[in-house]
Amino acid sequence: MSVFSHPDFDHHERVVFCNDSETGLRAIIAVHNTHLGPALGGCRMWPYPTEADAVRDVLRLSRGMTYKSALAGLPLGGGKSVIIGDPRKDKSEALMRAMGSAVEGLGGRYIAAEDSGTGVADIKAMATQTAHVAGVAEKRNPDGTLRSGDPSPATAYGTFVGLKAAVRSRLGTDDLTGLRVAIQGVGSVGFRLAKHLTDAGARLWVTDIHPDQARRAVQELGVVAVAPDAIFDLDVDVFAPCALGGTINDQTLNRLRAVVIAGAANNQLQSLDHARTLAERDILYAPDYVINAGGIIDIHYERTGYETGPLTAHLEGIGDTLNEIFLRARQAGCTTAELADRIAEERFLGTGAEPDARVAHA
Ligand code: NAD
Repeated sequence: MSVFSHPDFDHHERVVFCNDSETGLRAIIAVHNTHLGPALGGCRMWPYPTEADAVRDVLRLSRGMTYKSALAGLPLGGGKSVIIGDPRKDKSEALMRAMGSAVEGLGGRYIAAEDSGTGVADIKAMATQTAHVAGVAEKRNPDGTLRSGDPSPATAYGTFVGLKAAVRSRLGTDDLTGLRVAIQGVGSVGFRLAKHLTDAGARLWVTDIHPDQARRAVQELGVVAVAPDAIFDLDVDVFAPCALGGTINDQTLNRLRAVVIAGAANNQLQSLDHARTLAERDILYAPDYVINAGGIIDIHYERTGYETGPLTAHLEGIGDTLNEIFLRARQAGCTTAELADRIAEERFLGTGAEPDARVAHA
């Protein structure tokens, strides 16, 4: 399988294939860019149908982290790792420890955290072999209670803030009462986003490929569950992708009836062409790595001495950053995705004059 000539290979600094026969670990670590700092990004465990799917995912995700941290104004580079396997069946403490050893082998160039299929306990197992992990330290909530190192609550809150900014920009309202939202995937982030939205009075339809997850949302939040494929056809205002990537594609785009796309999933668009089609149809797209930066912002504060006030302000800055992107994309006649990429590249490639103060806070 080619990596250097892979369509998603984009000047990645390192792509490391990791194998441990004893535990069955098969993983890939991709370090995209470390110009702004060490490459920090989640460790995903997923039953990829083929190795090629895993390579594609890790290349795209690691690149996305470079853009995400740059746009969030963080001194971090972009990296990501994927473990090939079903987290519900194949995960063990020994396997996660072996993954920790693989991360240790990169000597701090890559720092791992939670992602889809991994949680705090898994990252703690990795931490027995390496110090280069994050998302493990307990943190205090604004109300004084303690929470685990899991960045998902911050990701969900940042996504909620960003979704409100997108709704204000496209629909001209701050009132979410009765807003119709479809959420694809109600796992760690999607479920919490659903809670923020129902608390704000929105009406929700959700789906998940694991029926127990959808059932929990129905029982605890009173939302309506639909079959995974039906989520694209709903007559809603907002579509919130909170599962895996690539769900906005040639097959699904024509079916969407929402006028706002705002969700936590990484790499929501299969290609940049889809951003153009969305713009042509007047569907406002909140660039994924901007709206879902809450987790990496949370982890940054964990690493630099945790303070809730500045963290909350930084998370709320996601809304301001998106407002600027929406406005400037309209002025420049480009898509929101292109504008976000342009600002991020100026920062991590050092091609811009000065970081734009108007988008420096998130
Ligand atoms: P998760 O695994 O806890 O939740 C994802 C949910 O989506 C699961 O319940 C899964 O069953 C469901 N799902 C997968 N494919 C689906 C499909 N085709 N249709 C419907 N449901 C499907 O993961 P998470 O931590 O909630 O992350 C969700 C997304 O947000 C991922 O793309 C992740 O990379 C991104 N993200 C997460 C964080 C974080 O802090 N956890 C931060 C930034 C971005």
